[in-house]
Amino acid sequence: MENLRILVQKFGGTSVATPERRAQVAEKIFTAKEEGYSPVVVVSAIGRTGDPYATDTFLHMVKGIYPDVPRRELDILMSCGEVISGVVLVSTLIGLGYDAVLLTGAQAGIITNNTFGDARIVRIEPKNILEHLCQDQIVVVTGFQGITETGEITTLGRGGSDTTAAALGVGLDAEAIDVYTDVEGIMTADPRIVDDARILDVVTYNEICQLAHQGAKVIHPRAVEIAMQKNIPLRVKSTFSNAPGTLVTSQVDSDFLELGTDITGDRLITGIAHTPNVTQIRVNTESEANVPAADLKIFKGMALADISVDFITVLPNVVVYTVKDDVADKAVKILKNMGFAAETRPGCAKVAVIGGGIAGVPGVMAQILEGLTAQGVQVLQSADSHATIWVLVAKEDMVKAVRALHESFRLGN
Ligand code: ADP
Ligand code: MG
Repeated sequence: MENLRILVQKFGGTSVATPERRAQVAEKIFTAKEEGYSPVVVVSAIGRTGDPYATDTFLHMVKGIYPDVPRRELDILMSCGEVISGVVLVSTLIGLGYDAVLLTGAQAGIITNNTFGDARIVRIEPKNILEHLCQDQIVVVTGFQGITETGEITTLGRGGSDTTAAALGVGLDAEAIDVYTDVEGIMTADPRIVDDARILDVVTYNEICQLAHQGAKVIHPRAVEIAMQKNIPLRVKSTFSNAPGTLVTSQVDSDFLELGTDITGDRLITGIAHTPNVTQIRVNTESEANVPAADLKIFKGMALADISVDFITVLPNVVVYTVKDDVADKAVKILKNMGFAAETRPGCAKVAVIGGGIAGVPGVMAQILEGLTAQGVQVLQSADSHATIWVLVAKEDMVKAVRALHESFRLGN
């Protein structure tokens, strides 16, 4: 068993949507096999929101009639999309003459905690997968799902199939985790917004974690964090081409790098990411001036209600922060109950400039503001950390802001 060379290959929902595309998926799997790998294939539900076999479609169908379906049962429902695409993909492979087997999350030994709808993988029990691999079978695993210690079916939340792939990569000690999608790699910005977005050849786990956390939905940040734990190389590639894609790694001397490859070390800015649908909340704390901990009270209130906050600015008479649009009303209600007056500005967007090299480099903020001002974009708030500078803008300005910053830092082709 020790001499298995395991390769995890994950295929997103658009990659398995039609018979032609599934044939391309099969190509990638066969190529891996020919190269001597034992492929473990992770598959997402077919299609995206609105498509007949997409997870959202099942949800709308049931919730439209029964809004109060228990979370446990919802997870059973939400685990069906990957089962369907898994059966379809295995049938494709078998139809082409290959020996393949489908394992559900439970059968694949993906053990999670019991947070329905957003479960965390606690460990992998690889025995069953390994047995099938030893029989020279291609193992297809349904993404996005697992099972608790007590046998309950769970789902892993947004981006869950990426997480499944990364956890299997770590649990099986794979040589690499290949994430196949509909773009040719991780780019300097979302190609749907920026026409000349450039593919990043090599990036570090940290850079991609930042980019993904800030909204680049090409890969889920949790998947990157998991792969990083055991230093398993992660590659993001297109199902529909043979482009080399993006290699995500921790260090520059990875075996997967050819000598002379341009390394990330000198890069100032990695990319631009965006997140729409946030609300800015401004709380007047002036009347509480003699209550020293007004700000503490506010953030404790938010935490108790499980509302995550961002863009926090605390000043003597005012506290400003952002929340997701869909929890803004709840946040304001809580503030009111605590006796605070709050103003809200819904429909904002966060735009993040990400770069490992930002820390302490003079002039980056000036360049950001220059780029935005030239396009008439007003900055509503800003914040920064060692590797990211964020600006908050009106939703209408989001696309303009992303393009302006991409241009200003000359990230394009
Ligand atoms: P999959 O179904 O394969 O998981 P996703 O829709 O989750 O695919 O992710 C791929 C999409 O991510 C691309 O179509 C692209 O529009 C979007 N995307 C956002 N930011 C980036 C980025 N920086 N680089 C590449 N793709 C990005
Ligand atoms: Mg995805």
